Amino acid sequence: MKAFIQYILIGFLCAQTTMAADYKLLKPAQILDVETGELMSGQAVLVSGNKIMAIGPESDLRQNHNIAMEEFEIIDLDGLTLMPGLIDAHSHILLHPYNETSWNDQVLLESRAERVARGVNHLKATLDAGFTSLRDLGSEGAGYADVGLKRTLKKGIIPGPRLIVAGPAIVATGSYGPKGFDLAHNLNLGAEPADGNDLIRVTRDQMGKGADIVKVYADYRWGPHGGAQPTFSLDELKLIVETANSSGREVVVHSATAEGMRRATLAGVQSIEHGDFGTREIFELMRDHNVVFCPTLAVTEANAEYAGWKKGEDQMPASVARKHAAMTSAIEAGVIICNGSDVGPYTHGTNLRELKLLNEYGLSMLKTIQAATIVAADLMNQQEPLGQVKTGYLADLIAVDGNPLEDLDVLSGPQMIMIDGEIYRAP
Ligand SMILES: [Zn+2]
Repeated sequence: MKAFIQYILIGFLCAQTTMAADYKLLKPAQILDVETGELMSGQAVLVSGNKIMAIGPESDLRQNHNIAMEEFEIIDLDGLTLMPGLIDAHSHILLHPYNETSWNDQVLLESRAERVARGVNHLKATLDAGFTSLRDLGSEGAGYADVGLKRTLKKGIIPGPRLIVAGPAIVATGSYGPKGFDLAHNLNLGAEPADGNDLIRVTRDQMGKGADIVKVYADYRWGPHGGAQPTFSLDELKLIVETANSSGREVVVHSATAEGMRRATLAGVQSIEHGDFGTREIFELMRDHNVVFCPTLAVTEANAEYAGWKKGEDQMPASVARKHAAMTSAIEAGVIICNGSDVGPYTHGTNLRELKLLNEYGLSMLKTIQAATIVAADLMNQQEPLGQVKTGYLADLIAVDGNPLEDLDVLSGPQMIMIDGEIYRAP
């Protein structure tokens, strides 16, 4: 009998400890509804495990869920705005800024160990900046190091954002770099070449090796005069999309030319990255096919600055002027615009730069915030809903001081960061 009582007691205590560690009650001054742009005050958020379990007045949450006072971990967010963690839908965690080391030298001279070590730092810098998810679009010569980093992260060995990764990415034979070296050298390429029917095998192989999403270059700077020209035919792109889709994965396309964008759209890809030469007509086609546009403005400005452009002083270079034209056409066409910055060529952790540029180039404040939450969350292809402070959603949350719809700068350096239900930065 004594042993039985002891057993019950231990069982009860264990249950108590698990429960106490499991419920977190976040008490912000207000919650930003990124769908409507409304701020809700007087609401608390109950997090259980890695999900938002309920939202409502604190007393209601306690009563309705029948949880004793001591079982909550209270997270006081006095004066702060709670909102979903930010998402950058186009990153390269295995690259670092080109004004430090050129892309060629990163791909050809840096050891895999160095690139991974840098990647670990980049992941931490990203989460420190309140970006709780990245769609990482190509390891750029580092094979499947992105898959390895994602698995390491999941084990809790290193800190970083939620990741979906593309592995090496697929390019048409002859199109991608490094280029211009003596042909006697067998160089490490920045992506994996494949063509024709072999695209089926390579797409499957990349997915089998851990690619969550298939990244394809529909054009590249391989024209006779160095300009961007299409690579894969429409039929080749269709093969890739059909192969990826039948495994439950999506295809994301790098494309700067109108023709590359047209083929990618007709092939059924999920999103198009860059779109520098996109026309009104192409953006309307994308809109009609529900293809999302990630304009990658920050990387274009960064590259222009590396080439000597002084923003605000010098005349706009052609590359930046083209981005303005593309954004104007895209906004007028009503295509869905996503926050994807192509961070890596510029400093990891400064991802906010893209949001500010989206707004500067004409996107409304609300749509800019949505581009980095609701829209980008869709591209993360998670099993559970992500990107909003709503019941049932994954608990990736940040708390900031102010209203980001009035000033995007309040998003820099959040006061609290929660990822997958765990506090990363306490207020
Ligand atoms: Zn990129």
